[in-house]
Amino acid sequence: MKYIDEYRDPDAARKYSELIHNITTKSWNIMEVCGGQTHAIVKFGLDELLPKSIRLIHGPGCPVCVTSLELIDKSIEIASNPNVIFCSFGDMLRVPGSKKDLLQVKSEGGDVRMLYSPLDALKIAKNNPDKEVVFFAVGFETTAPANAMAVYQAKEHGIQNFSILVSHVLVPPAMEAILSSESCLVQGFLAAGHVCAVMGYNEYYPIAEKYKVPVVVTGFEPLDILQGIYMCVKQLEEGRFEIENQYARAVNKEGNVNAQNIVSSVFKVGTRKWRGIGEIPDSGLILNESFIEYDASLKFGLAELVVDEPKECISGIILQGLKKPHECDAFGKLCTPEHPLGATMVSSEGACAAYYRYRKNK
Ligand code: SF4
Repeated sequence: MKYIDEYRDPDAARKYSELIHNITTKSWNIMEVCGGQTHAIVKFGLDELLPKSIRLIHGPGCPVCVTSLELIDKSIEIASNPNVIFCSFGDMLRVPGSKKDLLQVKSEGGDVRMLYSPLDALKIAKNNPDKEVVFFAVGFETTAPANAMAVYQAKEHGIQNFSILVSHVLVPPAMEAILSSESCLVQGFLAAGHVCAVMGYNEYYPIAEKYKVPVVVTGFEPLDILQGIYMCVKQLEEGRFEIENQYARAVNKEGNVNAQNIVSSVFKVGTRKWRGIGEIPDSGLILNESFIEYDASLKFGLAELVVDEPKECISGIILQGLKKPHECDAFGKLCTPEHPLGATMVSSEGACAAYYRYRKNK
């Protein structure tokens, strides 16, 4: 298949594996930020092609996994309102809240719909003027432009019965939070290619400089990831900490300026609580004053909730790269994709789901 097989060629993978072996003289810890990359690594066994001294650490780049329990509970409260059509990307429906998940609300009669685009939610709002339509706006910088566009269009067309429950998170502040932690093990980053396709990679220069870490913008296919690791190890071995772009076929330094403009016209940066990790200053997007009437949290007058994470779940530690999923006592026993305790077991980008799916117990 054109543009897929080329990036899954076993001979080329072996070649990169050899190159990495040849240049590696020390132990290095490299974090792949994105859960999509984690899945590719585990699915294709890419870590097994590396020298034992190279440890891949799985990062917090799964938006479903880091959406706070408070927000999940809020989504459930809104979706339970009989006057609401609640719309969401599919992965969110099974993420456990404190007592239930969105799918359970649906089974109890709630109008909960799985969509692929927030613009579809806007259409539903137009077609159902007697209902309130709420879209669960989850994601990193990648989904923010479409969510911003939906809100922008709602205002343009005077659609009043549409709002979004915002849970946007930003990658660079999360990388800084990880690097600032005393327990940080990360020495180099594979940055998420799709985030950089939107945002470019100018934001990473100050991080690389301040923390002396190489950052390699990397794609998602096996050869992308192996090449990204090779570029990162090469920098580490040579004592460099630069920004390099492995994913040049999709990413340039400035990113998609039109997408950035729509995001900054609708959202502003704000503090965000990450599930299992806690509050990270300036790590999220919130609606700015001009669009505040589209904030579902305010529209439905939801109070701040105080909730407890299940004690067995160590997903916060996993999301910071301090433990691997199989090191959780509940993994595969109390916690499975059918009965998940944490979001990392539900999401298609979650590290626990990746390890469970590919039966990786090492
Ligand atoms: S295996 Fe389940 S309980 Fe353990 S960290 Fe992952 S999601 Fe949480």
